[in-house]
This record gives sequence, C-alpha cells and structure tokens, in this order.
Amino acid sequence: MDFDIRKDFPLLEKYPQLIYLDSACTSLKPRQVIDAQISYYTELGACGGRSSHFLGRKTSEKIEESREKILEFLGAKGQELIFAKNTTEGLNIVINGLDYSKRNKIVTTVIEHHAILLPLMKLRDDGKIKLEILMCDNEGKVSLEQWKNAIDKQTALVITNSANNTTGFNQNTKQITKIAHDNGALICVDGAQGVAHHKTEFSKDNYDFLCFSGHKMLGPNGIGGLVCKKENLQKLKPFVLGGGTVKTVTLDKVEYLTNHEKFEAGVQNYPGIIGLTSACEYLKKLKMENVEKYERELAKEMLDVLEQNDAIIYGSKTLENHSALFSFGIKGARAHDVALMLDQQNIAVRSGFFCAQPAMEAIGAKDGAVRASCYIYNTKEEIRKFSQALTKLKALY
Ligand code: PMP
Repeated sequence: MDFDIRKDFPLLEKYPQLIYLDSACTSLKPRQVIDAQISYYTELGACGGRSSHFLGRKTSEKIEESREKILEFLGAKGQELIFAKNTTEGLNIVINGLDYSKRNKIVTTVIEHHAILLPLMKLRDDGKIKLEILMCDNEGKVSLEQWKNAIDKQTALVITNSANNTTGFNQNTKQITKIAHDNGALICVDGAQGVAHHKTEFSKDNYDFLCFSGHKMLGPNGIGGLVCKKENLQKLKPFVLGGGTVKTVTLDKVEYLTNHEKFEAGVQNYPGIIGLTSACEYLKKLKMENVEKYERELAKEMLDVLEQNDAIIYGSKTLENHSALFSFGIKGARAHDVALMLDQQNIAVRSGFFCAQPAMEAIGAKDGAVRASCYIYNTKEEIRKFSQALTKLKALY
C-alpha cells in the first residue's frame, strides 16, 4: 500500500501518535470524502426527486449518478440500490419486508451481529417465522454441511455475514448462496465488514440482497444501503412510508412507486450519498485487490504479535480466509481494562461484545474480548508498537 494515503486522513494528522485499530467499528474518513459531503452544501443544497428548480434537478442528477457508481463498485450494475442509514436498516428492510406465508423458515447462524439476530428473533417470537440458528465450532466456523442440512424447501431466506466482526473469518457466501438457490430460498448477505475489505461481486456471486454501511468503508456515518436483485424488489414490502414513495394518493387509495423510491421515504441523506460515492471512488482507485493483499500482510503481523504475547485468540488461529481483525484476551485481565490501558498508549481498540453477544459466548468469550481491527491506513510499524504495548501490559498480570 502506498503510505502517502495516510496524509489523506485528517485525524491521523491531528493525532500523529494515534494507532487506530478500531476500523471494524468505524473507519477513518479521507479528506476526499469529507470534501465531497461539503460539496453538497456548497454546490447543490436542495432536495432530490422533488423540486423542479435547477438546484433540485442538479441534486436529483447527482444522486442518481451516485447510485449507479455505487452499484458498479459493488459489482451490481443494473440492480437496485435502496439507500438506508446503515447495514442495520438494510437488514431490517429485508427481514421485515418479505412474505412468509408460503415458506416460513429462515436460516442463520449464532455468529451473527445483533442487527440480524434481533429482528429475526422478534419475528420468531411474534409467531411469523420458524428460525433455525446454526451453531458454530469453537473457532466461530459453520460448515457447508450444516448449511446443506438446514436449508430446505420450507426456507424463505438465508441470512449471514460475509466477513465476521468477532472472529475476522470470511465465510464462503458464494457456496452458501448456491445451497440457498438450489432449494428455492433467497439469500441476504450482511456485508458490513466485507464490503470495505474485499472486492464485492453482487451479480457474479448471485446474491439476492446485500446490506452495507458507508461508515465502515471510508464513507460518512448515517448512510449505507441495500442492494437488491432487480427481480426481488417486488418481493419486499416497505415498512417506512411517506413522502417520495408514491405515484398518487387519495384518501381511499395509494399507488406506490415500483422502484427503490418506494423504500426511500422522506428527504434523503444527500451529503451522505455523495460522500459514500467518493469513498467508493477512493477504494476503486486503490483497487480492492490491493486492499485485500495489504490487509493479508497486516493480518499476518497481527497474528504473530498476538501469539508472541500469549494472547488468548478467539476464532481461527490460521490466516486462511481471515481478515486483519482479531478478538483476543490477556490472561487475568478484563477486556475493558486492556482497552483502557492501550488507550493510554494512544492505541484505539474496542472491547466488549461487539453487538454479537451470542457469537461471543459461542467462541468462548462470554465475558467479552478486546478487538483490534486494521484498515488500509495502518502500518506494520504500528503493529510493532501495538506489540510493545501488549508486552508491557501483560507484565502487569
Ligand atoms: N453486521 C456486522 C457484521 C457488523 O459488524 C455491524 C457493525 N458492527 C453491523 C452488522 C451493523 O452495522 P451498522 O451499525 O453500521 O448498522
């Protein structure tokens, strides 16, 4: 990776000592993305899809152009993109929007984020679906055999992550998709952690739905999306209704629009959309293949450092299909204490359950863990400093 890119990140300039290892929570944003958001306020400033004055028209054009660019970045040209505030909202649109009257089973795993588990458990508790939650092994892995055994002709939806936020393991979503489709089920991929770090091939991998968050991929907070295979859009019912979603309304009857607009009620996050497009352009320029390659090197450094410091590693201890994200513990130390001590040395990590409490319990971290997650702006030198900090810290226990 070209380390000139570090100069693009204002927070790294403001805090030169900072070692930011919390990108799985949210990434830093490059100046280009920040400027792109500001450009909405300085050059456009109007509502899209509504006002016919020139600023309104320019805003609409910019947003539709952005939609195309984002779809292209995700390998989903010609499909639908519904803007949402984040992955959580996208997942809720899919989970609550499908019809379960003919097939009522949903298959997922224990190793998912609460953004999947909670809406599914609510539907189950309301008696609307049958939920099958696959258990993982102690490294957080679910085998293709388990997916094959669980997905059947009653399955309406299969839903799982492409890259895991607790173990750093990247699942074979392409194969899981095939198993789902062989049984006539739809698949929704939680791309919150995957889209930022790997090349996404929505159409080639034949996904039905993909949810993602801008803020984890160098983009702004409060914007993300749900990519939907064109033919699937009509299978979803919107659950937030309002302005911008309809063709006509009388007090007796509503005729909804038939494309993504049906799901984008109210005035949208235009600066966010423009900033997200800039993040996609930034990553496209770097090339996702280079991002992946560099992060594999960081993952190797990180694994070595954790092993050298006798950390308890939760999840797989090999690098196969592993992102540069590791959850770990230091024997005898509470996760929050470790995070606070690292913070005193300018190293930002996350501690706790990472909004995936059942997953943490399943991988043996029922009291929580520390998570160190890298991105393109991290360096091997930073990981060496992280190692020194761990060595000091470990000596206290
Ligand atoms: N899924 C996974 C795997 C995640 O890591 C996260 C965020 N930690 C989410 C879903 C939810 O993302 P957001 O908070 O941006 O909606």
